Amino acid sequence: MTEANTSATTYDVAIIGGGINGVGIAQDLALRGLSVLLVEKDDFASHTTGASTKLIHGGLRYLEYMEFSLVRESLRERETLLRNAPHLVQPLRMDIPVYKSSKRSFPVVEAGMILYDMLSYDKSLPRHHFVYGAEKLKRRLPSLKHEGLKALTAYYDCQALLPERLCLEVALSAAEAGARLLNGHALIACRLREGLLNELTVLNRATGGKERYRVRLVVNAAGIFVDKVLGLVGDDFPRKMGGTKGSHLLLPRFEGGPESALYIEAIQDGRPFFIIPWYNFYLVGTTDIFYDGDLDEVSASEAEVDYLLYELNHWLKRGGFTREEVIYSYSGIRPLPYEPGKKASRVTRRHIIFDHARHGGPDNLISIIGGKLTSYRSLAEECGDLVCDKLNHRASCGTERLPLPGAAGVKDFRAYRESRSVLLAERYGVELPVARALLDIYGARAEKVLILTRERPEWKERLNAQPLTIKAQVAFAVKREFARDITDVLWRRLGMGRDECLGLRALEQTAEIMSELLGWPAETKEKHIQLYRRYIQNHFKPRRRDACRAKGEG
Ligand SMILES: Cc1cc2nc3c(=O)[nH]c(=O)nc-3n(C[C@H](O)[C@H](O)[C@H](O)COP(=O)(O)OP(=O)(O)OC[C@H]3O[C@@H](n4cnc5c(N)ncnc54)[C@H](O)[C@@H]3O)c2cc1C
Repeated sequence: MTEANTSATTYDVAIIGGGINGVGIAQDLALRGLSVLLVEKDDFASHTTGASTKLIHGGLRYLEYMEFSLVRESLRERETLLRNAPHLVQPLRMDIPVYKSSKRSFPVVEAGMILYDMLSYDKSLPRHHFVYGAEKLKRRLPSLKHEGLKALTAYYDCQALLPERLCLEVALSAAEAGARLLNGHALIACRLREGLLNELTVLNRATGGKERYRVRLVVNAAGIFVDKVLGLVGDDFPRKMGGTKGSHLLLPRFEGGPESALYIEAIQDGRPFFIIPWYNFYLVGTTDIFYDGDLDEVSASEAEVDYLLYELNHWLKRGGFTREEVIYSYSGIRPLPYEPGKKASRVTRRHIIFDHARHGGPDNLISIIGGKLTSYRSLAEECGDLVCDKLNHRASCGTERLPLPGAAGVKDFRAYRESRSVLLAERYGVELPVARALLDIYGARAEKVLILTRERPEWKERLNAQPLTIKAQVAFAVKREFARDITDVLWRRLGMGRDECLGLRALEQTAEIMSELLGWPAETKEKHIQLYRRYIQNHFKPRRRDACRAKGEG
């Protein structure tokens, strides 16, 4: 390994971690005029942020634990995201069926919904309503078993269809505001002088080179890795994180299946159980189990798969769901505070912005514990206020009304999508569905992708995958979106979680384009192909690879 070079710049703030909270804090602070460095050891959204249920929600169940301010904050942020990222966040109808056997009776659910509506008094989404009467319920919920079904409460929350892209767009916004983002760089050492953290050593994981950065303040936004980062600072930090694992299954949609999301009380333990339509799949989740294993290699156990299948078979009329029908599974660890002795479901979902100075630690170190996808912006604002206070910097938060890059200049996204897709299709000679698909994931940035095809018309060709994707998107991910390897490109920039073959059919084509752009020799290209296969196998345990192999592509 080479000797470390020391950067000439002293950054006001270094942020460790490029999940949604780290990039949110980078965006907030850069907009306040501070010089910001962010280091991410793998890729943006490659850990918990990429493994959520994808809901942008108030968290109805937190009402049971009297977390009213948490619910209110999340509901306000839900509205903010609908406004600032309409291409990435969409309303989602949720149906809560109430059965005779439900622990929470209809009046209890109804009272919760009234409170939920009150706490979101300023929302743009419709208020909740309920349905009862056997015939009406049958018509409304044809996919569910009806024995014992008494009523239904319907309400709206939202869905971030591709949370990885939400995280990326916040990162891009931070970069536009001047933050320096080092993707694929791990913090490996810290230097403390007179009680202050003043230098960080960072490893560039692609080159093996080390770099040193002088900093005035550090925000540890490493999610479930917060304790590991603190371990680099010193040995005397008490444990902060007590994560719980949550797993999901992806199953193909089927005829007569649910059209809206179902939020059901699990028969096995009364926990929330979701069946959510997501592209061509149903997203089924989730579990909640204390986790002390390898934080980098998280996947669903067979017991979790069986738990979720049991619920599906119990509630859906179709029944007969088996492991073989599962396309893939994924798991993440909730970055919850360490609260020994508490049941997993009772650990608070409220975030903590931990100022170590107040607990005898370094004066210039802050750790982020917890924090939902939904409320990343308000968490970042709170953290930004504290950082400014500590650095004696006067500036207020500028993110509340700032559209993310893909929503810049767009007032009504639906209308924009319709007119813009026609224009882009004509201007660049692509089919209308291609233009629409680009607008759906890049919003107002879609044309920047197509501009690449001016010099390389062959990049208008489609990649061999479902969803609709063109080759220019691979090049765009490398040139404009901080992607460094095939996993970054296929999984997190192009959203191949939507593909029944998990991007495996597009692997060769992607590797070809990346090799050309990044100058990979044949053996490097092959290494990256194998890395992608291994990543998919280890994290998502695809169960139907034979189907992809049969088409000669797996
Ligand atoms: C099963 C499940 C379902 C969920 N569902 C929802 C939901 O529907 N809605 C919702 O709002 N929230 C949901 N959440 C919560 C939400 O996803 C997380 O709280 C949030 O994504 C955490 O983001 P983060 O940035 O704190 O952590 P992460 O996304 O884990 O990011 C931390 C980053 O730090 C990096 N890092 C670690 N160590 C270093 C180092 N030494 N150097 C450099 N970088 C480092 C890691 O690589 C990682 O990318 C869910 C969580 C889980 C697990």
